[in-house]
Amino acid sequence: MRTDKRYHADYLKLRIYESDLMAINITSLVRKNILKMKKYASARDEFTGKAKIFLDANENAFGSPADQELNRYPDPLQKQLRDKIAAYKGISSPEGLFLGNGSDEAIDLVIRAFCEPRVDSMMLLPPTYGMYSVCANINDIKIIEVELNKDFSLDVEKIIETAKTENPKVIFICSPNNPSANVYAEEDIEAVLNNVDSLVIVDEAYIDFSDSPSWVKRKDEFNNLIVLQTFSKAWGMAGVRLGMAFSDPEIVQVLNKIKYPYNINDVTANIVIKTLIDPSRKEEMVDKIKKERGFLMNAFSNLALVKELISSEANFFLARFDDPDDVYTYLIEEGIIVRNRSNQLHCEGCLRITVGTHEENKILCEALQAYTKRKRS
Ligand SMILES: *Cc1c(COP(=O)(O)O)cnc(C)c1O
Repeated sequence: MRTDKRYHADYLKLRIYESDLMAINITSLVRKNILKMKKYASARDEFTGKAKIFLDANENAFGSPADQELNRYPDPLQKQLRDKIAAYKGISSPEGLFLGNGSDEAIDLVIRAFCEPRVDSMMLLPPTYGMYSVCANINDIKIIEVELNKDFSLDVEKIIETAKTENPKVIFICSPNNPSANVYAEEDIEAVLNNVDSLVIVDEAYIDFSDSPSWVKRKDEFNNLIVLQTFSKAWGMAGVRLGMAFSDPEIVQVLNKIKYPYNINDVTANIVIKTLIDPSRKEEMVDKIKKERGFLMNAFSNLALVKELISSEANFFLARFDDPDDVYTYLIEEGIIVRNRSNQLHCEGCLRITVGTHEENKILCEALQAYTKRKRS
């Protein structure tokens, strides 16, 4: 919901027609030591062309005991995998795609590439995903917080004003947001992108469960935009650890410069390449999860103990209770684990429920009905 204040704010159009001036200077944002350093040159980096015999990397030429051929180091720049993902995602070039050991690696690398410890800052919009602040703390980067509005929408004006005074290197926008499960209005994110000199990360870990389009499609319009996606959620492949960052190729180059040389292993690459040949299973699962989300939220809306349901564009949702700790503990006793988010900003009384299989969801609902009965008697 747009508030009048935000609707009338003229910053929304401030930079819309200045597309050339809008581009930020990425090089000037990179930490000086990162600009200066030489990246690790792996054996295969130094050689181009065709060869018959590889005696350059101290590998075991006899093979490996595993049932796949894994005795060779993987391609540091993951050419084949990046080509396949870029084609699947329909981006203009694989140069605009970075692959990480989960999107968590991309989060950490962006901070390490651009934020000078104890000097620079980054902006978070709580309540949001916990890894951003963990990575900030590991790297000793100051966190500037601009709270979401009570309805979990962006406080665009405050974000832009605060960015002007505090100059954060990076702003983290999680959409759909974890834990609130809402997508931010496109014009709100656009206003931020257009009116800050920071990098803006739009974390789309849950975008497949949303009806809103991905920002990947608009990546080329904003050179300060980094879109994160992952194989961990909709694809059902949290175990392979593969995350994607879509951005200006200049940013991808910086991230590739500082990552571990072989951050994506061949087991992961092979499985994902195979999976991309037929994405229909993933689409089926997403449909099922969305249907189950409807089933679960409908059942929750009929439970008297649920005070409020926050609508969801993800594979989880927030439900508000009078006594969330008691419900949480009860569910644990029943062998059901949900996430207690009641200590987070604007999430008073909230448990975060991940959508499960139909069987699992039914068991959860029955447990909550039994809880209600027990409380009444
Ligand atoms: C789950 C999640 C991720 C995924 O992280 P991976 O390292 O790719 O598994 C990223 N961002 C948010 C907000 C998440 O909830």
